[in-house]
Amino acid sequence: MLNKLLIATTNPGKLEEFRQLLEGLVPTIISSADVDAPEVVEDAPTLEGNALKKARALFEHSGLPALADDTGLEVRTLDGRPGVHSARYAGPDCIAADNVAKLLNELRNREDRSARFRTAIVYFDGAQPRVYEGICTGRIIERPRGAGGFGYDPVFLPDGETETFAELSADRKNAISHRGRAMQAFLNDLKSW
Ligand code: IMP
Repeated sequence: MLNKLLIATTNPGKLEEFRQLLEGLVPTIISSADVDAPEVVEDAPTLEGNALKKARALFEHSGLPALADDTGLEVRTLDGRPGVHSARYAGPDCIAADNVAKLLNELRNREDRSARFRTAIVYFDGAQPRVYEGICTGRIIERPRGAGGFGYDPVFLPDGETETFAELSADRKNAISHRGRAMQAFLNDLKSW
């Protein structure tokens, strides 16, 4: 049984999502802001490496079990790019619309538009790190659609859906998304502890 878990995020929306998923399983959920967490440079070559870096830094700072995630969009015809560089694909100070514009430009006239979101989640409490993965496959459409979500959502059409991540309800997105699936893998493991 885990009594307290520290989540590596400063994003209130993400924290709320984690809180809802962990309800009834972990009595106390706190986040980076509650422990005055040090800034972590996400410069590892893999999603797992960045998630581990964040979880380890939080554990070492607070002594509390920590959970961190990192996500990337992997496009097949771009050899998996933007991948671990998804947040700053169009440059160091770019916004989501810049990243989307760059992606659409790179995919111009490409027939294969298949892509997947991948999330790595790492739990670290000073022992062996536990790593979980969630994948959502789909394709990049030619023009953005929808006003919900964030990041690359308006151009990502998940397999089996007729709406982009930016058009789907938050509940539906969470049910099929990379992050939702990685969290389910963590929750299944947590229930057996
Ligand atoms: P993070 O690891 O959750 O901070 O995600 C890194 C980057 O991947 C974000 O800045 C977004 O550009 C992109 N990203 C992550 N998750 C999603 C998602 O669910 N939809 C669209 N873009 C996402």
